[in-house]
Amino acid sequence: MIDFELTDEQRALIDTARKFTRDRIIPVAAECDRDEKFPDDVFKAAWENGLANPTLPAEYGGLGLGDVDGTLINEELAYGCTGIATSIMANTLGMTPIKLAGNDAQKKKYLGWLASEPVMVSYATSEPAAGSDVAGLQCRAKRMPDGSWVLNGTKAWITNGGLASFYVIFATENPDARHKGIGAFILRRDNPGLKTGKREDKLGQRASDTRQVMLEDAVVPAEDVLAEPGVGFKLAMETFNQTRPDIGALATGLMRRCLDESVAYAKERMAFGRPIAEQQLVQQMLAEMAIRIEATGLLVRKAAWNLEKGIRNPIVSAYAKAYGADAAMQSALDAVQIFGGNGYVKEYPVEKLMRDAKLLQIYEGTAQIQRVVIARHLVGG
Ligand SMILES: Cc1cc2nc3c(=O)[nH]c(=O)nc-3n(C[C@H](O)[C@H](O)[C@H](O)COP(=O)(O)OP(=O)(O)OC[C@H]3O[C@@H](n4cnc5c(N)ncnc54)[C@H](O)[C@@H]3O)c2cc1C
Repeated sequence: MIDFELTDEQRALIDTARKFTRDRIIPVAAECDRDEKFPDDVFKAAWENGLANPTLPAEYGGLGLGDVDGTLINEELAYGCTGIATSIMANTLGMTPIKLAGNDAQKKKYLGWLASEPVMVSYATSEPAAGSDVAGLQCRAKRMPDGSWVLNGTKAWITNGGLASFYVIFATENPDARHKGIGAFILRRDNPGLKTGKREDKLGQRASDTRQVMLEDAVVPAEDVLAEPGVGFKLAMETFNQTRPDIGALATGLMRRCLDESVAYAKERMAFGRPIAEQQLVQQMLAEMAIRIEATGLLVRKAAWNLEKGIRNPIVSAYAKAYGADAAMQSALDAVQIFGGNGYVKEYPVEKLMRDAKLLQIYEGTAQIQRVVIARHLVGG
């Protein structure tokens, strides 16, 4: 049976997230964007309100919410600011490989840490010379006789890089082996071999902290090896499969904001003696935005539902991410268009939406890489 109804609990969850967004995110979003500042107090409050790490399993102290629930929260947070929402959501990205591949001790230690304190975890595959080509990463992992590993290399564009208490780092035992050489390792922030670079000065999502993470003879004890070389690449890909619907949810939230701002403005703004909302070419842009919101929302729901039911179908996660990111970019461009000259100045909220939307087409697999993933399912290879 197909059912689009939300449960009472899910409706309550949306209410909580919507109120939180209205009271805590929207009031600080413009300032955090301007000053490139992540509001730690907002993250702490999100954690206290059960809006961070929603899918952390109950047996490790988490709320144990479903994947659909997680996307409902992310959509609401993104309505307020995708930069802040990305940083909150990045904890789910960071904890997913531990959920998928961690042993019980690792889950107790690291998932338990996320459940008991408002701390952050970062996920790091990307490097200065390897983003889309994850199998081409160069960060080296060397096995020591005592079972520990030593990591050397640089990770790039790491969300919450300067704020995280621990990191899931993907590194290779042998770069020539490409995907067959990659493993995953948990590193604590206080590891003497780990340093973080300067905060990246970004186009959009400027509230979110993005940095390089440098590893110089960083020793990982045997108990913090998450995936031995050989199985890390698969783990990274499955993590993306599980978190791409969340990017679609961010896109939906951003588009809802575009539409609300655009409708309100179009009803007020007069041209040729009447509100621009009465112009059919403006109405067309509004109608297309509404279609994209609905279509992305449905793709996200299907992709998250698949995950909840244990149905493995990465193509649908890729659809939700690819379509949602492009839809958000187009909707934000149209919102700026509807605002005209006012759309181009920072006094109005839509130029930020346009800058923020662009990142949705880049991180967690670019727009092109989603097509590669989808096409591979269609034609093989
Ligand atoms: C703000 C921000 C936050 C990020 N957060 C994280 C994070 O937390 N953790 C993390 O690991 N990474 C993170 N990233 C990195 C992000 O995932 C990469 O930037 C992204 O995967 C693209 O890699 P790249 O920048 O090396 O681009 P490249 O791989 O160099 O690609 C450049 C262009 O070539 C195209 N291209 C590349 N290969 C192909 C192909 N086979 N077919 C068609 N086109 C292709 C791409 O689509 C793109 O248009 C973040 C990036 C940003 C900007």
